[in-house]
Amino acid sequence: MSVLENLEPKEVFHFFEEICKIPHGSRNLEQISAFLVNFAKERNLEVVSDDALNVIIKAPASKGYEDRETIILQGHMDMVAVKEDDCDIDMAKDSLRVKTDGEYIWAEGTSLGGDDGIAVAYILALLDSKDIPHPPLEIIITTNEEIGMLGASALDLSSLKGKKMINIDNEIEGEFITSCAGGATFISELTVKRESVSGVECKIEVFGLKGGHSGEMIKYERGNANIICARTMLEAMDVAELHVKDFCGGMADNAIPFASAANIVVPEGDIAKIKESVEKTLADVKGELDIKDPDVAITFTEVGKTTTECIDKKDAERFLKMIITLPNGPLAMSAAVEGLVETSVNLGIVETSGDKAKTVQLLRSSVESSKAFLVKKLKTVAEAFGGETSMEGIYPGWKYVCDSQLRDHMVDVYKKMYGKEPVLHAIHAGLECGIISNKIKDLDCISIGPDMADIHSTKERLSVKSAKNVWEYLKAVLA
Ligand SMILES: [Zn+2]
Repeated sequence: MSVLENLEPKEVFHFFEEICKIPHGSRNLEQISAFLVNFAKERNLEVVSDDALNVIIKAPASKGYEDRETIILQGHMDMVAVKEDDCDIDMAKDSLRVKTDGEYIWAEGTSLGGDDGIAVAYILALLDSKDIPHPPLEIIITTNEEIGMLGASALDLSSLKGKKMINIDNEIEGEFITSCAGGATFISELTVKRESVSGVECKIEVFGLKGGHSGEMIKYERGNANIICARTMLEAMDVAELHVKDFCGGMADNAIPFASAANIVVPEGDIAKIKESVEKTLADVKGELDIKDPDVAITFTEVGKTTTECIDKKDAERFLKMIITLPNGPLAMSAAVEGLVETSVNLGIVETSGDKAKTVQLLRSSVESSKAFLVKKLKTVAEAFGGETSMEGIYPGWKYVCDSQLRDHMVDVYKKMYGKEPVLHAIHAGLECGIISNKIKDLDCISIGPDMADIHSTKERLSVKSAKNVWEYLKAVLA
């Protein structure tokens, strides 16, 4: 039975529902990729799929549009697959339970994957239709966007003719994205000695911070739990003996850490002094963050007497000092786009395990040379503290193109349809447009999409009306 069959546009929601039947969380894409290849083959369209399971489809122009310039349409096939604790769906195997009240679409107990299933649905509806006028189309549907744009990075686009691309992976109708930041994950690792220490084991915990996406939210200068926790320990080390057993905080390089914790071992006689020091640090931090992140909390609790392996005192100090010295937060603002962060870095993860102590940072910049210079700074700091560094997940930025025919055309069509200007927006986060524009010389591109709320969560919702508006708009742009 079809849940969405009464919603308009029928052709789009038909394919959207089909996609929801096929599990397609990141790294679980064999089935959806094969579905897309079959879809194209059944309609006699040229299609290729690569080792990364990306799918590229070429569709000839509709009648009368044969001599027009090729347009690339692009989206990603994977979704962030998350579910509520009490949900019995196996997201690796089962269909989503799609629901609608006519206004929104959601999935019961799980994320919906409107990001970016709606792009795939638009594309399939377009390729399936016989009466929508369009120029020659090149379709790029990538894999594993949500876990570092892995599919886009692996794409071979040498067979493509198109120089104009519409990426459909934005979540705000009427907002066109025109540039994005490049990024990289930067890892600094110290080798540390361990020594047996006797004393009272205690826990220092930092929590209550707002956290947030390290691209969009970095400009608010929210508290970084990892740095606050390192600072708390360093301050205490000035007045008492403190041994670090372990120190872990943050869940992802691209999230501002809202919690961090360390287990320490201290002599019984120093507990009062450390307590006092922690309280002072909390008062200081609270004062500094009173508007930016007011609910910051630091607690100090005694666990009990112990004899255990701790990080050598000098090594622990080296690690903590490196953490507070590494650049963090917004580092430069754009002069061209007001309010846009140009360069930033987020110390997302701190982790100690055995003889290793490491930090993981995500750095971003829309200026490639600034990104490279920041890498040099991070490397310099880490090496000064005896660390070794490495990088992964490097992707290029997408610089704002001053002269864009595609953008002008899309703004014109938008104004004609809605009687107002769209919002042009540059973002301090990564988009596949950055990677793809690095692979197609002089690519002119833009990113659009319908209204969605709470993506990447079980509260994800897609607006039905907005999905319809963007469909009508997309058809008008192609026509
Ligand atoms: Zn997306």
